[in-house]
Formats: sequence, C-alpha cells, structure tokens
Amino acid sequence: MAVGVLGLQGDVAEHARMLERLGKEARVVKGLRDLEGLEGLIMPGGESTTMGKLIRREGLDEAIKGASFPIFGTCAGAVLLARRIAGTEQYSLGLMGMEVERNAYGRQRESFEAEIEIPALGGGYRAVFIRAPVIKQVDEGEVLAEYRGSPILVREGRCLAATFHPELTLDLRVHQYFLGMVDG
Ligand code: GLN
Repeated sequence: MAVGVLGLQGDVAEHARMLERLGKEARVVKGLRDLEGLEGLIMPGGESTTMGKLIRREGLDEAIKGASFPIFGTCAGAVLLARRIAGTEQYSLGLMGMEVERNAYGRQRESFEAEIEIPALGGGYRAVFIRAPVIKQVDEGEVLAEYRGSPILVREGRCLAATFHPELTLDLRVHQYFLGMVDG
C-alpha cells in the first residue's frame, strides 16, 4: 500500500522522500487513477490558488472529499483543507473547520525558521515557514502546536494541517505522526 503525494504543483519530491525514508511507498498523484488503493494523501506546499484549479481540472476535488483515507496538507495544502479563507472567495476543499489567512506573516518575514514545541512529538522542533498562512480560528480540531499564539499544526478527524514545511527538514517526526494516522 502507498501514500500519495498530490503532484500537480509544489514540493512533491521532498514529501515523497520523507515517506520513503520512513519505509512507506510514495505515489505521485496527478489524476484520478492514481488515487486507487491509496491509504493516505499529502497535499504539499506551493500556491493554493493554482493547486485548487488543477485539482478541479483533474476531477480530483470530489474524489478527495469523498475518500476515507487520512489527508495531510502542508502550507498551501493546509489552505486547501480549510473551510474558510479570510478575505477571499478562493476555492478550497473545506475538509477542516478552520479559518486561514494566506501569506499572513507579511513581506518582512516571507520565510523564516522558528523553534517551536510539539508536545505530541516529544517537544522541541525547528519549523520552516515559507509565505505561510496563519490559522485564525479552529472550530473543532485539536491544536498540536502553536507559534506566537496561532495554531500551526492542527488535527481534525482524518485530516492534519501544518502551516510550516516538515518536508524541508531532516526531522521525520511530523510525517511519522501522519503515518500513525494512516496505520491507526
Ligand atoms: N502562500 C501560498 C498560498 O497561500 C502558500 C505558500 C507555500 O505553500 N509555501 O498558496
């Protein structure tokens, strides 16, 4: 069984490499056929407007919404999971009850790294943020980590959202946590 990485745009190869390091087969998903038999799906960072368009063009939107496997969205992928995107009518899958604001750390801090705490992963973690969204509100999900008072890692049912980029580090713990959702 394999875990898919949505491969329409964004940092696809990095996520696939993380899965493979954890001993999990990774499959790049470009169309409906690729979803068959998957046990989980990662939606990478990139540009959420573009990715949303491509998802719909390939007919993947309804299939992903209707699937029962766990989904992990990072950065733009997290935006796609959110039910509400502040200030825009932009398309999203809306699988998680939360509101995000895109690019909300501003120009000064387009990209940065921060030491954060993820208690569920044993504590300290160095998170990489790139034009990251800010999660403004979480309706029901469990907040697993925060940075400066805002959630940055949230789980709700079968979905996991991170505003940072765990695939750009050597630390496998966030992907390992997701694979725990897949295998659980
Ligand atoms: N700013 C991008 C968006 O909202 C996300 C950036 C990223 O994924 N690194 O789509």
